[in-house]
Amino acid sequence: MVDYALELLNPPEGEKIYAVCETTKCLPDPLQVIAHCTTGNHRLRVIPIGKFAITMNGPAEAPYVSGIRVFVDGEKIGRYPTFALWYTKDPLFDPRTRGTALIDEIIEAGRGFLSHERVRVKVPQKWPWRSAICSICGEMVPDNLLVDGACADCRSQSYYEKKTY
Ligand SMILES: [Zn+2]
Repeated sequence: MVDYALELLNPPEGEKIYAVCETTKCLPDPLQVIAHCTTGNHRLRVIPIGKFAITMNGPAEAPYVSGIRVFVDGEKIGRYPTFALWYTKDPLFDPRTRGTALIDEIIEAGRGFLSHERVRVKVPQKWPWRSAICSICGEMVPDNLLVDGACADCRSQSYYEKKTY
């Protein structure tokens, strides 16, 4: 999917590529390995929409940039019966007996179950920020992430509880 999108995008040599991945499963990894779009370098956004789809585009300052979206096409997967069972999580798919058939079918299909479209991607706005201190926990965070002086952690969005030893 990444190769396909890059081929269609055909960016100039050495140009930075940006990507959006519409699932948290598997697909963020090839974007990081092949296109060097990572969450850390801000060139990969992973949006948990739950679709096996990616969009890739070049750099832009404008509010919109042209990109290529590649996705697994539900209308095409019927041509690949084992893949269709696996992809739709059908209980008839048994990885012990059909695992090899699945891999063979995926390799043989190549881009056969993929489709693409040309899209206009909203370029995320960059906002200037300064370091600030949360009025509740006293830890440093960018000021644009504080609401009424409190960080997300202190606004009951914490993912952890403190342990008392
Ligand atoms: Zn806080």
